[in-house]
Amino acid sequence: MKIVNYGSINLDHVYQVDHIVQPGETLLAADQNLFCGGKGLNQSIALAKAGAEIFHAGVVGEDGDILLDALRAAKVDITHIRRAPGASAHTVIQVDRKGQNCIIVFSGENMRPSEADIDRVLADFAPGDAVLMQNELFNTPLMMRKAAEKGLAIIFNPSPVSREMLSYPLETVSWFLLNEIEGEALTGETDPGRILDVLAKKFPNGSVVLTLGANGAWAMDRGHRFFQPAFEVQAVDTTAAGDTFTGFFLAGISSGMPIPDALRRAAFASSIAVSRKGAADSIPTAEEVSLAE
Ligand code: ADP
Repeated sequence: MKIVNYGSINLDHVYQVDHIVQPGETLLAADQNLFCGGKGLNQSIALAKAGAEIFHAGVVGEDGDILLDALRAAKVDITHIRRAPGASAHTVIQVDRKGQNCIIVFSGENMRPSEADIDRVLADFAPGDAVLMQNELFNTPLMMRKAAEKGLAIIFNPSPVSREMLSYPLETVSWFLLNEIEGEALTGETDPGRILDVLAKKFPNGSVVLTLGANGAWAMDRGHRFFQPAFEVQAVDTTAAGDTFTGFFLAGISSGMPIPDALRRAAFASSIAVSRKGAADSIPTAEEVSLAE
């Protein structure tokens, strides 16, 4: 089973500053770092590190070499990433002495794959394959509709949440991957059990993974529910916890692993990710997970 991730690819420019710059002020930054980011990129890297056959579909700009190199180095197939004129989607992030931040996002044309891009990507996939989507790229509902027409399984992580996503063709989704915020946005409920109840009613053909941070994760599939506690670790940076979980869970079930085993492995991999600093860099490989387990 091939998985194609229709996902964002970003450059994150992070500046350490004394305080967040004020109107009219010019400020010297004490340090600057460039990171590869975007939920899409993180999830593709997590899937590849977990051992899945993963293809990334998206768009980068003229400055996108570093992004393509990062994906290639992780063994993500990048043949479905289009190179466009102009800058890649990027963020400019100021982080002050107290760790507070403020963020400018430039998504430009590079978060906007066209219908022709979608058709080109889907031409290389067949029933039995799966498409993974977050809620970041333009034309997400169109990709959902077209992929469903083609018989692909649809895996949807509705992040970041939006009002519009409630009108997407969500009945086509095979797997919802949610945290509590996303679960609440889809159901109006805050209690995990109630979130699952409402999802089961609204989307009887959709299976669900609902992650609860340090409180573990639930999966629901065809009337069965499974709970996986989180592993106790000293968390230093929870960035990419959910993306790591997604990568290891999907790699597991796409290789035929039973759901409880895939959940356990995903929770273990995420516990390693939260005990390290960074986003994509903190995601462990399948070998590291096997060795530590
Ligand atoms: P997201 O990043 O999408 O909000 P969560 O915060 O729900 O995702 O985390 C996903 C998974 O990562 C959890 O189900 C858990 O297995 C693991 N995890 C998250 N935070 C911790 C933590 N502090 N300690 C151990 N595991 C954690």
